[in-house]
Amino acid sequence: MAARLVKAFLPRRRMVQPAPTPPPCPFEKRFPSQLVRDDVFFMSLAYNQAIDAWRRDEVPIGCVIEREGEIIAMAHNTVEAAHDPTAHAEMLAITQAAAAIGDWRLENCTLYVTKEPCPMCSGATLMSRLQRVVYAVGDPKMGCLGGATDLNARPAANHHLELTRGVLEKPCRDLIRAYFQLKRREE
Ligand SMILES: [Zn+2]
Repeated sequence: MAARLVKAFLPRRRMVQPAPTPPPCPFEKRFPSQLVRDDVFFMSLAYNQAIDAWRRDEVPIGCVIEREGEIIAMAHNTVEAAHDPTAHAEMLAITQAAAAIGDWRLENCTLYVTKEPCPMCSGATLMSRLQRVVYAVGDPKMGCLGGATDLNARPAANHHLELTRGVLEKPCRDLIRAYFQLKRREE
């Protein structure tokens, strides 16, 4: 009996899964000038992270966090590879940024992300006290910084973000759309 019980709780041998083969990405990375460090520059780097996500067969969303003109975090979705529903680009970048500056308060930091943050990530942008969030594509279904709802607009919130929407919107939208279209065709 005891032996049988122990066996039931032993980890099952994991199935060896073949490496994912993402549909080939028809988009190229962007090469913004290093001399002009504006919103388009930082969003271009977030876009490049999204391309990296596609190449690993992850939903192509990328994020960077900037402080005083320097990039302190860069990430893309790793939900599939990490088997982790919280491994969104913004969550990973916020953790990286806090580690980089040794403070959970990301005051004076701007987060750039290619798609409007979901409920989880919108919450994290507020809880980390980011100064500013810039996103490319709005999300009327799940976006919580103006798309479906706006957590930042709650008068009772003890922290408010500066928000900029629509930077590099078309390329970021085209990338996400194309990924889902090709995935659907594959299936
Ligand atoms: Zn999210």
